[in-house]
Amino acid sequence: MAGTVLVTGGTGYIGGEVIDQLLARGYSVHTTVRNKARSEPKLRARWADAGERLKVFQADLMSDAGWAEANAGCDAVAHVASPFPIGVPKDKDELVVPAREGTLRALKFAHEAGIERFVQTSSAAAIAYGQPEKDNFTHLDWTNLTAGVPPYIESKTVAERAARDWVAMHAPTMTFCSVNPVAVFGPVYDDDMSTSVELVKKIVDGSIPLIPDMGICVTDVRDVAEAHVRAIEAPAETVRGERFPSSEKFLWLREMAEIVRQRVPEHAAKVPRRPMPNWLVKLLALFMDEMKQIKGELGNVRDVSGKHTEEVLGFSFIPAEQTLEDTVRSLVAKGIVKA
Ligand code: NAP
Repeated sequence: MAGTVLVTGGTGYIGGEVIDQLLARGYSVHTTVRNKARSEPKLRARWADAGERLKVFQADLMSDAGWAEANAGCDAVAHVASPFPIGVPKDKDELVVPAREGTLRALKFAHEAGIERFVQTSSAAAIAYGQPEKDNFTHLDWTNLTAGVPPYIESKTVAERAARDWVAMHAPTMTFCSVNPVAVFGPVYDDDMSTSVELVKKIVDGSIPLIPDMGICVTDVRDVAEAHVRAIEAPAETVRGERFPSSEKFLWLREMAEIVRQRVPEHAAKVPRRPMPNWLVKLLALFMDEMKQIKGELGNVRDVSGKHTEEVLGFSFIPAEQTLEDTVRSLVAKGIVKA
């Protein structure tokens, strides 16, 4: 079912993989970037064979300019762009406002262009937070914002809720669904990596000398993109209103370190073995933003199930062990981590 798909945020880790898979399956792709002069040459170099099948448009989440042109002639939208910084901003609106307004802008222009299929890249951040009593989550769960959650988590929850409300009110015939990835790893294209991949880089390059007592769910960027493409291709009644968590399994960081040691021993010399005591995490959190985020996660299990996605979209996730191995091998192959 080839056609033309708008992928917002083509410079990003997930956006790039979605474009890759769409082009490989014969689609034409429109993509938005914030700075066309800077980003288009890089995108053209990555997909040198795409020619006219790839069109690049300049459009910021915070402005109407460029969005009508980007949507014109498209059959579906994968709305991937959203701010995903490594640190915590002083003002949460730096994340919440572009996430919400950008999603509503993308929806409005898609609707005006007559597009009937819209897949939003949401997040497990919109599923699994603000409920301290729970440790297992599914597509039916929603993050509880009244509990007070970090700005990125709020931004993804607010954006997904706003999108669903907007579609119900303004475009009830549109087939809208979301893909909700947990932490995304897998092969990288270059050193312009997503915040999530930084974690594996830090485990392998020795920047994390001791392992904090925290865990995350792992998914593969190739599966996240596959879920987007399948959500675009599936019959409308199969995906309308759905949420598709992309999650293979929950792992403690110490288990991730062990997997790297076993699967890529030749690059595991600096992988930490000893635990970081909780008191040290709390002390470092006084000075370091990253530790501030870890502090709230110590000992927490947030196991988000991807079973519903596998069942409804009809594919199986890549095992987390393979994903972690491929992440490390790709970081080394691209020279991001020294061999
Ligand atoms: P990424 O590599 O940092 O990509 C983010 C993309 O959003 C970039 O293309 C960026 O464009 C674009 N963007 C940010 N602010 C923008 C703005 N104001 N206007 C237009 N574009 C803007 O991160 P990623 O991991 O691929 O994340 C993509 C999406 O997946 C996000 O919605 C994120 O919340 C979601 N997600 C990611 C993970 C994960 O672990 N990686 C997990 C769950 C959900 P520039 O190149 O111009 O900055």
